[in-house]
Amino acid sequence: MLHVDNIEVVYSKMILVLKGMSLQVPDGKIVALLGSNGAGKSTTLKAISGLLGGDGGQVTKGKIVYEEKDITAWSPDKIVQQGVFQSMEGRRVFKHLTVEENLMAGAHSRKDRRNIKKDMERVYHYFPKLKDLNSRHAGLLSGGEQQMLAIGRGIMAKPKMLLLDEPSLGIAPLLVKEIFKNIKQINEEEGMSILVVEQNANVALSIADYGYIIEDGRSVMEAPVSELLTNQEVQEHYLGMS
Ligand code: ATP
Repeated sequence: MLHVDNIEVVYSKMILVLKGMSLQVPDGKIVALLGSNGAGKSTTLKAISGLLGGDGGQVTKGKIVYEEKDITAWSPDKIVQQGVFQSMEGRRVFKHLTVEENLMAGAHSRKDRRNIKKDMERVYHYFPKLKDLNSRHAGLLSGGEQQMLAIGRGIMAKPKMLLLDEPSLGIAPLLVKEIFKNIKQINEEEGMSILVVEQNANVALSIADYGYIIEDGRSVMEAPVSELLTNQEVQEHYLGMS
C-alpha cells in the first residue's frame, strides 16, 4: 500500500505547487489521478518516485509511505529497489537503441538477471507489436509504440507498483484504447498496482478501480470509479458530458 500523506511540494525554494496532497494506492489496484493542466498531477508522481530533485522541486511537508517505510527523502534508485517504478513518457525512450536494448536497459537495477529473457517475453506477450519491432531503433517507432516500449521498460524493472504519467499523450485514439487494455491486463496478470495520471479521464476511468481529482495542488474529490462516473460535476468537467 502507498500512502501520500498531506504533502507540500515547492519548486525553486519558492513556488508552492502541492498544497497538502493526499492519496492512497492499495496493493493490486488501479488508481487514476485526474485534473486539469497544471493542477499538480505530474508533480505528485515525481514526488512519489523521488524524481523531483532533477526539476528543482522538494517535498517540504507531509510524508510518503510505501509498505510501512517512509520513502519521502529516498533517492530514485532506492525507491525503484523498493518496487515503485515511474515509467517515463514514451518520448523519453533511448532513441538510438533498439527496442530490445531499451528493454534490457529497463532491467539494469535488477539483481535477478537470470530471468531477464523470460521477462522480455512477458513484455512481448502484453505488447506483441514490440516483438515484431524488436531490432528496430526506438526513434523510428510511432508515438504509440514508443509509449508501449516505455511501459515495457517498466515491466522489465519488475516493480510492485507502476506509476504512469499520461500514457495517452499524443497518441491516436485507437492505440490509446489498446494501450489501456494492455495496462489493465498487466494489472490483472501481474497483480501490479498502478497509479495513472491522465487528462483523458474517460479512458483512465475505463480501467481504474478508484479515482482522485486534483485541483490547485490538492485532492478535491475521491471515490470508487462507479461513483465518479455518475457524479454530475465529474461528468461535466472531466468527462465532457453536459
Ligand atoms: P500537466 O498535465 O499540464 O503536466 P500537471 O497537473 O501534471 O499538469 P504539474 O506538471 O505537476 O501539473 O505542474 C504543476 C504546477 O507546477 C504548474 O503550475 C507548473 O507550471 C509548475 N511546475 C512544474 N514543474 C516546475 C518546475 N520545475 N519549476 C517550477 N514550476 C514548475
